[in-house]
Amino acid sequence: MDCRRAEELLSDHLEGALHAILRAELEAHLARCADCRALREALDEVVVALHTAPDLAAPSGLAERAAAAAMARPHAVVVKVLAASRAIVCRHQPERAPWAASSRK
Ligand SMILES: [Zn+2]
Repeated sequence: MDCRRAEELLSDHLEGALHAILRAELEAHLARCADCRALREALDEVVVALHTAPDLAAPSGLAERAAAAAMARPHAVVVKVLAASRAIVCRHQPERAPWAASSRK
């Protein structure tokens, strides 16, 4: 196992969700790799900090303000929707593709 693979597996390892075979391979890697051990210790600290952090309530009106901000920028959403629908039309009806218009008779 290389360090990249070990890094991918560390969060599953911390959650206890790793298959026994992968866990053994990861632990063997950790036993010989100081960098990955340091990363695991740092992740352990993050997990502990997250578990001990108090639950915070969202500020009053946050959802409404976020929705209003999103609605204030509908242009980008419309463009994406139109682009997606055009792609669907083009896929199902190639003769309706914008680039096919000049070849129509
Ligand atoms: Zn490593």
